Amino acid sequence: MLGGMQDWPLLVWKLIDFAALNHGSREIVSLTCEGGEHRSNWAEVHRRSKGVAQALSRLGLKQGDRAATLAWNTHRHIECWYGISGMGAVAHTVNPRLFEDQIVYIINHAGDRVLFLDLTFVGLIEKLAPRLNSVEHFVLMTDAAHMPTNASVDFLCYEELVAQADGDFAWARVEETTPAGLCYTSGTTGNPKGVLYTHRSNVLHTLGSITKDAMGVGSEDVALPVVPMYHANAWGLPYSCAAVGAKMVMGGPHFDAPTLHKLLMKEGVTFTAAVPTIWLGMLQHLEETGTDLGALKRVVIGGSAAPRSMIVDFKEKYGVEVIHAWGMTEMSPLGTVGSLSAEAAKLSQEEQFDLKTKQGRAIFGVELKVTDDAGTTLPRDGESFGHLMVRGPWCVGEYFGGEGGHILDAEGWFDTGDVATIDQGGYMQITDRAKDVIKSGGEWISSIELENEAIGAAGVAEAAVIGMPHPKWDERPLLVIVPKAGATPRKEDVLAHLEGRIAKWWMPDDVVFVDEIPHTATGKIQKTTLREQFADYSFPAVDG
Ligand code: AMP
Repeated sequence: MLGGMQDWPLLVWKLIDFAALNHGSREIVSLTCEGGEHRSNWAEVHRRSKGVAQALSRLGLKQGDRAATLAWNTHRHIECWYGISGMGAVAHTVNPRLFEDQIVYIINHAGDRVLFLDLTFVGLIEKLAPRLNSVEHFVLMTDAAHMPTNASVDFLCYEELVAQADGDFAWARVEETTPAGLCYTSGTTGNPKGVLYTHRSNVLHTLGSITKDAMGVGSEDVALPVVPMYHANAWGLPYSCAAVGAKMVMGGPHFDAPTLHKLLMKEGVTFTAAVPTIWLGMLQHLEETGTDLGALKRVVIGGSAAPRSMIVDFKEKYGVEVIHAWGMTEMSPLGTVGSLSAEAAKLSQEEQFDLKTKQGRAIFGVELKVTDDAGTTLPRDGESFGHLMVRGPWCVGEYFGGEGGHILDAEGWFDTGDVATIDQGGYMQITDRAKDVIKSGGEWISSIELENEAIGAAGVAEAAVIGMPHPKWDERPLLVIVPKAGATPRKEDVLAHLEGRIAKWWMPDDVVFVDEIPHTATGKIQKTTLREQFADYSFPAVDG
């Protein structure tokens, strides 16, 4: 027997229809690649995304085809997302920070027929175009005045395409399980793998992420997603802001603290989201300039662990609440959020800071467990750590094209590759990526925890810990530090800072200072490269 309720398919274009109708005048402000600022709103972005959809139909794109974007966070990029998936095709975000060979691989693997690109990438695409086998149309996301005159690629002009469309276009009434988006993981080993989101998974993720205990965005909010739309869907914000009619502020090609700070103050940003490295730069900028964060109330930090000192600084110096979140491309991306439970709200400020360094509790729609190597579920005691497994309607079921074969176990769990604990209150804490954990004398040392503590030492801007081979213990931790501008921290002082904050046997065997720590295309510390850089290194004690 079927139930008696309406069959209202969960399609992403319903989000922008809703925003245009109910919050049409709520603004979308973007810094553009041409320079300067562009002001638009949900009604306008809705109208123009229909233009994109219509233009794509005229170019011959069909339902299920893929159209890629190589673009920063702007109003045009939002229009492309809704336009592409609204006409039944798949919006494939390409991370421009990947190596050129990976970009070529991803576009060819996805079989993208159309590629939208920002002005920034004209040179790159001129170079790569001969290797992009499936792309039939390159659309340059600019106006006629900024089109290059003698490019080697026959670029179409975005603004002309949108202007030519009359907007009389009906969104595609596809099944809710139809693919809407595609994003490749920036895997550190092997080729990147594609996660093919459905309309249904994106809409459910949106409903899950806007709740008070999750992102908690509302129509009053002014949201600045610094996290790029090509990094795990900007954590869903172009969808969730539409679902609630929040104002959006988009930084375009800018990620530097002075520009973002100016934008944030000018537009009255109340909510923002980014990886920790962005906030390291911002906190340093605030300190140097003696400024504050204006109307900002909440920052979501994820992608890598947010150090305790960062959470404390935001709160104590600027009155801003950090919401620590964890997720992954394979999870659309939101998994856990560190909002306070009723119990946690009763804790002292210091205890709350401790809790906030954990990655938070599962939101409804996400099932979590940690297991040992044999697959046995470990207790939720905050101590036992093991493989973090997830299940839910916005978690990956298989990779695009079946890459990697079966990725779920017999009960439908996906192994995240993270190692974590879960405590009695349901708070999950990432101890490491499984491949980064330091195995010392048969026990595991958490590189993340060491990094979080090291970053609190005076004069330390950034810290990374890697396991180095050791004749007696298999591996021992090596602490790599980037000093703050003008500071010259000493090894003894950093180690003294760690004393009492970590188990004695976790103490790094050495501290080295470098100008820069390598990062992946999504802002994570690139431990593989770091390990290669230190391939010839050996601990002082071993050398004698
Ligand atoms: P990505 O798919 O690029 O977003 O990467 C997902 C991975 O980033 C996760 O599996 C974690 O290893 C890591 N990650 C994401 N958020 C956090 C966090 N808050 N703390 C520690 N690691 C994180």
